[in-house]
Amino acid sequence: MQFVSTRGGSDPVGFFDAFANGLAPDGGLYVPKNLPLLPSDLLVDDALPYPALAWDILGMFDSDHDSDHLIELIDKSYGDFSDTMSAPLQQIADNLFVLELFHGPTLSFKDFGLQLIGNLFEEQISRTGQTINVLGATSGDTGSAAIHGLAGKKGVNVFVLYPKGRISKLQERQMTCTGADNIFPIAIEGSFDDAQAIVKELMGDLTVKEDLQLSAINSINIVRVLAQAVYYVHAYMQLPPENRDDVNFVVPTGNFGNIFAGWMIHQMGLPVDEFVVATNQNDILYRLFNTGEYTPERVNPSLAPSMDIQVASNFERFLYYHNEKNADATLSQMAEFMSSGSIKIPNFNASNFSASKSTDEDIIANIKRVKEDYNYVVDPHTACGFQDIDSTKTHVVLATAHPAKFPDVMKKALGEVPTEESLEALKEKKIVSYEVEATPAAIQKFIEDHRA
Ligand SMILES: *Cc1c(COP(=O)(O)O)cnc(C)c1O
Repeated sequence: MQFVSTRGGSDPVGFFDAFANGLAPDGGLYVPKNLPLLPSDLLVDDALPYPALAWDILGMFDSDHDSDHLIELIDKSYGDFSDTMSAPLQQIADNLFVLELFHGPTLSFKDFGLQLIGNLFEEQISRTGQTINVLGATSGDTGSAAIHGLAGKKGVNVFVLYPKGRISKLQERQMTCTGADNIFPIAIEGSFDDAQAIVKELMGDLTVKEDLQLSAINSINIVRVLAQAVYYVHAYMQLPPENRDDVNFVVPTGNFGNIFAGWMIHQMGLPVDEFVVATNQNDILYRLFNTGEYTPERVNPSLAPSMDIQVASNFERFLYYHNEKNADATLSQMAEFMSSGSIKIPNFNASNFSASKSTDEDIIANIKRVKEDYNYVVDPHTACGFQDIDSTKTHVVLATAHPAKFPDVMKKALGEVPTEESLEALKEKKIVSYEVEATPAAIQKFIEDHRA
């Protein structure tokens, strides 16, 4: 399978290069050149274990690895998820299901993409013989998932900048207590945006990027999207037959990567009625799907911080398909967006997306209500998925993180704090974190001194 850029100005590449490049050279995002249909017998095979399903689906896109090698990559990536189902589906009411995506090493769905990415980095190092220094900024889940995807791997060092004192204590421990000597969590004075600006500046300087052999933990890497598509099929296969006709997937959304993965596999034949984009108070996508206008506003920090976004980086993929794969139209709309800061999409058609929005009060109320009505505990992100659900239709809400990661909000909502073994164990471990001045020059120096 070849991957092409949404902006049409880059050569098509195979699976491995699409992974290694992250962003296409013309600034666009990679998408599969065409979307193959799922094999007709796949959806009726209820008993397929997660790795075998991942192999079937990723194998449709990856013609770079032979089958044995791909299965090895998949086993390495998902082998240590705590629940052997990897993504178990829980029924909490007649038509209501929760797909638990928090059984990976850092307890959020980000592990599904970043475990695989970690193993692909390792392969890149052995293919090219060159070491890699991975650099990123995080407001929580991405950084810890990337760190766990790469901890202890040879030839790669990981530098993750985070705003000191502004991420949850447990998220900080997930990054700083790995015990791996190739991991460098860096606390900086300032906000997430300040951290992100430093990363952008260093990555944007091609001399620095080359000298330090920097690679990004990219939120737009197509491999993350492909890896996430697998669990939508896995969810479908776990549904009782009577619930399979009109399935609605509800996805707590920030950068639009997770829900886009579901929509993509639906285009390949997974029967789905509707995809509900569940946003928090940062409602750019809620406004998009209701008006056809895409206009970022200021980020307003919420109780669901991993969804606090200003610009949804995977939006361009939606736009490309909305343009019926017309890359020229996508290029000119993105240019318009970058110059004017907003797009009004011509002939907007929401396809089978709808959207909901939760304020912080809604998040607290939803956590309480889900506990009272269904005796089930959801984290603040997943809580956004429980806004305005029509109980006459089958809904699968994606649980994107474990509630124990967010003790303060859970305490506020329920008066008690859920715990989780691996997080409790972290409290005993030594924190290794570095404090570096929040300037590109100081971070560059730090990487030079600690590089792989
Ligand atoms: C990243 C994240 C999201 C948002 O996912 P996108 O793919 O960016 O839309 C939602 N919930 C949690 C817990 C996350 O970590």
